[in-house]
Amino acid sequence: MIESTSLQRIQSIVQKGKKFLLTTHVNADGDGIGSEVALACHLRDLGKDALIFNHSATPENIEFLDRRGDIQIFDPQKHGDLVREMDAVFILDISDWERLRDLGKLLRQIEVTKICIDHHPLEEKFGEIDVILTEASSTGEIMYDLLKKSGANLQGKMIEALYTAILTDTGAFRFSNTNPRAHEVCADLIARGVKPHHIYQEVYERQSANKLRLLGEILSNLNFTKDGRLVWFTVTQATMKSTGTQPRDTEGFADFPRSIDGVDLCLMFLETENGKVKISFRSKGKIVINGLANRFGGGGHPYASGALVEGKMQQIVQEVVSEAKGLFA
Ligand code: 5GP
Ligand code: MN
Repeated sequence: MIESTSLQRIQSIVQKGKKFLLTTHVNADGDGIGSEVALACHLRDLGKDALIFNHSATPENIEFLDRRGDIQIFDPQKHGDLVREMDAVFILDISDWERLRDLGKLLRQIEVTKICIDHHPLEEKFGEIDVILTEASSTGEIMYDLLKKSGANLQGKMIEALYTAILTDTGAFRFSNTNPRAHEVCADLIARGVKPHHIYQEVYERQSANKLRLLGEILSNLNFTKDGRLVWFTVTQATMKSTGTQPRDTEGFADFPRSIDGVDLCLMFLETENGKVKISFRSKGKIVINGLANRFGGGGHPYASGALVEGKMQQIVQEVVSEAKGLFA
């Protein structure tokens, strides 16, 4: 539940302001984008300006929430002045400056009021107002409460965006963050008109054949420890090139090997264009992995974390796998 003081402060900022910026983390996902779109609908209903600047392109399966193309990729040269004019900035589904990239750098330098709404664990104060609820399934769930308590007109695109946020962050209500509230909120959204099969088709049944070819390639080349509890795989630039895919096509791939009987932990190593390796850690629930992600400069949830590491793929795989094995001791 959002604390009433934070709620009142946010409502007063919204009431007094005219121009708002919304953003989310690099590699934006359904939760971040769904929360942005829902809040933007509300702000516009109130006659306010809502800009959305992200660092990464919207994943194809979430594009249906932004058919008008409102979401822009932040460009420090082009958008810097615009950001300075904002009455407040909503930072959604993230409380880590590093994962806001160039926009994070700018926001730290300027005076604008920052409101952070997130469900990732946070050690220190982040914005002027932090609504951090780690017990929430998703930022979408928190956003629903915020919008409902603010008297938002819960309909149309707004409710589709909220449903998408919760659906994607809970892995379609399968992951350990799925809680009674996630179902209650979604039940209400469905009662208000969301069509679950429609959203499901948009999100999960419009994949490119190339993406499935890449998945096929990956699933044929898994690595296991002897006991079969740890599984890992790499996605190289070469494999993406040969299958005509991009890094964003790998979203959700780490969930597949985790589904193998006996596997407790899956690691995905994705080679990025700028010589870094993006690691996704996915646990079935016995092994807590955000500590390990932390050791490699990343973080996240206890059973779903990530990190971005500089260096050569082979060496990073060796180091991380060796440390991961230590978790089973
Ligand atoms: P994914 O593997 O899907 O990119 O990320 C899973 C979760 O790990 C995200 O929801 C986020 O909480 C966290 N995460 C991913 N990458 C990073 C990173 O580079 N740094 C931190 N602190 N967390 C990350
Ligand atoms: Mn989230």
